[in-house]
Amino acid sequence: MDKRDYYETLGVERNSDDAAMKKAFRKLAQKYHPDVNSAPEAEATFKEINEAYQVLSDPQKRAVYDRYGHAGLSGAAGMNDFNQGFGDLGSIFEELFSGFSGQGRGNGRRNAPRRGADLRVDISLSFEQAAFGTERELEVPRMEECDRCHASGAEPGSTPERCSTCGGTGEVQRRQQSPLFGTIVTASPCPRCNGAGELISSPCAKCHGQKRVRVTRKLKVNVPAGVDDGTRIRLAGEGEAGSLGGPAGNLYVVIAVESHPVFVRNEFDLHMELPINIAQAALGANVQIPTLDGDPDKLEIPAGTQTGKSFRKRGLGIPRLQRTGRGDLIVTVRVATPTNLTTEQKELLRRLATSFGDETTEQKKGFFDRILGTD
Ligand SMILES: [Zn+2]
Ligand SMILES: [Zn+2]
Repeated sequence: MDKRDYYETLGVERNSDDAAMKKAFRKLAQKYHPDVNSAPEAEATFKEINEAYQVLSDPQKRAVYDRYGHAGLSGAAGMNDFNQGFGDLGSIFEELFSGFSGQGRGNGRRNAPRRGADLRVDISLSFEQAAFGTERELEVPRMEECDRCHASGAEPGSTPERCSTCGGTGEVQRRQQSPLFGTIVTASPCPRCNGAGELISSPCAKCHGQKRVRVTRKLKVNVPAGVDDGTRIRLAGEGEAGSLGGPAGNLYVVIAVESHPVFVRNEFDLHMELPINIAQAALGANVQIPTLDGDPDKLEIPAGTQTGKSFRKRGLGIPRLQRTGRGDLIVTVRVATPTNLTTEQKELLRRLATSFGDETTEQKKGFFDRILGTD
């Protein structure tokens, strides 16, 4: 592997002093720390920066590196050192970002608003309901803001009191000296209010101070025409309530569609198989076909129709989801060999057979003759 020059990695001159190096490292680390930079290569870059700094900030290692380069450090100096001692990205993060309010991932405030969880409800629809749309009433158990205390957590008549230990921020800070960064500030949840930032002396009788309660809510969902198996409908803000003023999550309604005895769906087209008899196939016929709408429709079968032939009826398919128009109905005919014939029908078929003679099919005659050797 090609290793980048450590000075280049930190973007400093070869004769930079410790202060300049520390400043450069801090700046880069804040940019590439995996907690603030979600780009996939950020962690690798951060490790590279950290490794460069670990070497260049150590006078002995720096001297070895200046003289022998990376090769000088790969032996006894132990490159492994860098990856060990690096296991806890979190603590480095704390060192880098504590005291910088509004930076990083905003986890400084323990009592920051939090978005409610998303919920999922599965529903099953008939083939027709999915095609033409329907309305469903759902019963959704979810966490909602407590209405008794208006999500304050305090019994009506009382109010939560701001925690004096943390001043309402929910966290306490500790200052200490670090050889790496000088004065650093670490933060932890306030032990008195457990990070809430407030104290509730008489908790609400309904939510017991939790500010949220579990409620089974009835919701109406309009299922639009054209949904299919697996379609997900998003009901924004109908998930769990957020906490501390955060927004509610979403509710996802996931649809399963039952199969149909006649029709098979492919996107917005419907497919069906239509059995016809040999007389209809040979002579042609006007037949009735079922439709999803209920009223039968007509299909003209031309004379000489072979089994497997498909006919397309425009606009008799599924309504296109959130668009106008409908797919088509594709009817594939299957010529059924007659069974359970009456004596009369048998007689008619015998006469037909005699009339056909030994002929099988006209098109394939030559082929069969060659195989059977009757030429
Ligand atoms: Zn309450
Ligand atoms: Zn507190």
